[in-house]
Amino acid sequence: MNITEKIDLRFPKSLAEALRLQAHEQTRGKLLAGGTDLMVQWAAGVPIPARATSLWNLPELCAIEIFDGHLEIGAGVSHAFLREAKQIHRHVPALIAAAATVGAAQIQARGTLGGNAANASPAGDTAPALLVTGGSVLLASLSGVREVPLAQFWTAYRQIAARPDEIILAFRLPKRGKAVERFRKIGTRQAQAISKVMAASRILIQKGRIESAALALGSIAPTPVRLTAVEQFLAGKKLTSALVAEAEKLAQATVQPIADIRSSAEYRRWASGRLVRDALESL
Ligand SMILES: Cc1cc2nc3c(=O)[nH]c(=O)nc-3n(C[C@H](O)[C@H](O)[C@H](O)COP(=O)(O)OP(=O)(O)OC[C@H]3O[C@@H](n4cnc5c(N)ncnc54)[C@H](O)[C@@H]3O)c2cc1C
Repeated sequence: MNITEKIDLRFPKSLAEALRLQAHEQTRGKLLAGGTDLMVQWAAGVPIPARATSLWNLPELCAIEIFDGHLEIGAGVSHAFLREAKQIHRHVPALIAAAATVGAAQIQARGTLGGNAANASPAGDTAPALLVTGGSVLLASLSGVREVPLAQFWTAYRQIAARPDEIILAFRLPKRGKAVERFRKIGTRQAQAISKVMAASRILIQKGRIESAALALGSIAPTPVRLTAVEQFLAGKKLTSALVAEAEKLAQATVQPIADIRSSAEYRRWASGRLVRDALESL
């Protein structure tokens, strides 16, 4: 079956043209970026639309801009491009590490950051790394661009806070500054694995105390989650091995893990704590 032969696939030359098409369609499933999620869904039986709009290589979605305190990374930037964009690696290392674990080279060459976020799978690798930046998503429509905090972006299982006429334009991400970031993914294999649990962190230590801690988990709940109870517990405290042990226990006590074909809730609960321990010990 050649899926693309069944679709009237339009190739807009600009964001403005894509937005006009999308205002008419009003269905996000008709936006095709790299297609690495959508093509699989169509092959698995999700109804193939008669028309779709390609966002691939749309110039406005492919830019990476570096500002004083933050970056803007276009939604159409591929995971492979992120890995190559060495000039931003020091600012968002957890995101780069997450992009490097998405599928394998072929998937990274086509899969985009925007597609990973919009697909809103709990196992989307880049979501926790985006969350710990405390950044936001820029959503474009014919009415203009609005900014939604990433903390409010994933609203429920496979749901995002974008209207059907909106296209994700970019991610506005504060640079880490002196904070330390980490990303860890636990799967059944070293590579080409959808995660059982993954964690990202951005932690700032000053004068031996934790000034701020952002911790996020993926594949643990219907949406990616911040571990706010653990973050609040850590803030202002001295980093000691006793504190690490308490944070690990608190994470295990506060997560509400899902169970599915990839892992049990019990394993996810245990691993969540270990990932928090790992993030703190890496400091
Ligand atoms: C073999 C294989 C292995 C994989 N492994 C992993 C993995 O390890 N980790 C992981 O996280 N994912 C994995 N994936 C899933 C997928 O590759 C990623 O989620 C990828 O980032 C999706 O990006 P895309 O551009 O291909 O999205 P698409 O398939 O083009 O789109 C996905 C969804 O996002 C919407 N969308 C895309 N761009 C926009 C935009 N700018 N604005 C609004 N909506 C938009 C589409 O309409 C669609 O609903 C894997 C997929 C395959 C086939």
